Amino acid sequence: MKKVFSVAIDGPAGAGKSTIAKSLSKKLGVIYVDTGAMYRAMALYLLRSGVDPEDSAAISAKCREADISIAFEDGVQQVMLNGENVSGLIRTEEVSRMASKSSVNADVRAKLVELQQKLAEKEALVMDGRDIGTVVLPNAEVKIYLTASSAVRAKRRYDELKAKGEDCDLVTIEADIIERDHRDMTREISPLKQAEDAVLVDTSDMSIEEVENCLIGIVEDKING
Ligand code: C5P
Repeated sequence: MKKVFSVAIDGPAGAGKSTIAKSLSKKLGVIYVDTGAMYRAMALYLLRSGVDPEDSAAISAKCREADISIAFEDGVQQVMLNGENVSGLIRTEEVSRMASKSSVNADVRAKLVELQQKLAEKEALVMDGRDIGTVVLPNAEVKIYLTASSAVRAKRRYDELKAKGEDCDLVTIEADIIERDHRDMTREISPLKQAEDAVLVDTSDMSIEEVENCLIGIVEDKING
């Protein structure tokens, strides 16, 4: 079997996972797989199907109809839902809310975890999510748990939305973040938690450059023993 190299990055929303995973994958010359986008594409399908987010039997039945895959355009991940590129449609609040709720479902998780494991068998990659180091790639060569305080994560999200010209409220954003963290961390299947062999990086007081350098250092240490 071809030897491939995996870097697993887990952590709560807004810790900076995708920004860092993207730049790290470039530096390492490997692909970046954003598993949250897969849960979001599934959520979009469920929303389009009119499924009640609290109806787990309906979610289990409907998720079988959704064929989710990823492709790369100029090195950037595109997520496909039944052949349609939905990458531009999955970053709304409505999809975020549905993804947070539907990702507790065992059938949704089983389907997407299988897809993620197949990708990692074929290619060296940096993959980020909530359960990568614990469930999806328990044998990943490097595992990082990236976190930051909820106040810092809320402020980052607030600045992002303001920069886009969107009207938003810091207190509501932080309350929402805390609620989603709670759901991710307390769900029965694959809850968000730090893998025993993951390195904890708290980005609350770090710049993006500092986090990048820290992660490169961790990867180099692991590779060089
Ligand atoms: O990371 P992102 O915010 O795009 O993820 C969307 C939702 O998908 C999260 O709220 C989380 O509940 C779920 N998710 C998950 N497991 C993953 C990645 C994302 O449960 N590996």
